[in-house]
Amino acid sequence: MNVFSHPDFDGHERVLFGHDPESGLKAIIAIHNSNLGPALGGCRMWPYPSEAEALKDVLRLSRGMTYKSALANLPLGGGKAVIIGDPRRDKTPELLHAMGRFIESANGNYITAEDSGTSVPDLKLMAEETSYVAGIMEKPCADGHLRSGDPSPSTAYGVYRGLMSGVEYRLGRTDLAGLKVAIQGVGNVGFRLAKHLHQAGAELWVTDIYRDMVQRCVNELGATAVASDEIYGLDVDVFSPCAMGGILNDETISQLKAKVIAGAANNQLESPHHGAQLRDKGILYAPDYAINSGGIIDVGYERMGNFDPKAVNEHIESIHNTLMEIFSRADHEQQPTHAIADQVARERFAHPDGNLQNA
Ligand code: NAD
Repeated sequence: MNVFSHPDFDGHERVLFGHDPESGLKAIIAIHNSNLGPALGGCRMWPYPSEAEALKDVLRLSRGMTYKSALANLPLGGGKAVIIGDPRRDKTPELLHAMGRFIESANGNYITAEDSGTSVPDLKLMAEETSYVAGIMEKPCADGHLRSGDPSPSTAYGVYRGLMSGVEYRLGRTDLAGLKVAIQGVGNVGFRLAKHLHQAGAELWVTDIYRDMVQRCVNELGATAVASDEIYGLDVDVFSPCAMGGILNDETISQLKAKVIAGAANNQLESPHHGAQLRDKGILYAPDYAINSGGIIDVGYERMGNFDPKAVNEHIESIHNTLMEIFSRADHEQQPTHAIADQVARERFAHPDGNLQNA
């Protein structure tokens, strides 16, 4: 398995492989870039079919975190961790403690947080072995209530606001009543997004590999359940990928009827040319790391020790302006939206001194 010559290796600063035979831990930490600060990014647990798939995911995800934090004007670098295993079957306290020790071995260059397959209680177990864990503090919401450190509510709120930006820009409407939205993956983020959309009057179609997750949306939100492979071709206004990456590809793009793509999943484009394909089809794509930055803003403030719910909320709402700027620059420069987002982010993390003035 190649690392330095891997197609997704992008000058990453460090790639660490961790193995603990007693707990069965097999994990990878990738630190992409720390020009703006320590690399902060979630720890994903997933039953990857191969180690090569896990490496590919962590290389792509960590790179995405560098771009995400830079675009969100946070003084953080980009990193990510993956644990190879089924979160519903293989997760044990011993394995999570071993993961905590693995994170500790990176000496603070990598700070972990929640991601697909890990939860706040899991992170608290890791935190018994390392202090480099974010997203575990009980936090006040904008309404004064306390909530757990889980960043998903902030991510979902940011995606909701970003989805509205896409609808406003592409469909010229600001109310969501009757808007048709297809959501792929109704877990921590997707379900909360579905709730926001339902409250705003949108009609929902949902799919998930777990039947209970889908049923919750049907029962509580009046959503229509669809099979996994049906979600792409639905005659809806918005397609919202909230599961795994790489799902905007040759096979799926040809099926899409939605005019806007706005979802939480990381690395939605299988490869950059798929962003151009979307543009050619007249589909407005809200770049994944621009729209899903609510969670990193949330845990970033926690980690920086200045968690003020009002400031966090305002920062998350700035996703609207960021996206509107990306959409209009993309039109003006005749470029795909992801290319514009990359350009802006790169300018910020490649020249950190200039960026600090804006942070
Ligand atoms: P989650 O694991 O809680 O939910 C993901 C859901 O997608 C699960 O219910 C899973 O069963 C489902 N799923 C997986 N593969 C699927 C498929 N092929 N078809 C249909 N459903 C499928 O994870 P989450 O925290 O909600 O995160 C969702 C996505 O958003 C991930 O890509 C994650 O990296 C990204 N993201 C999450 C956050 C956050 O704050 N949690 C922040 C930024 C980005």
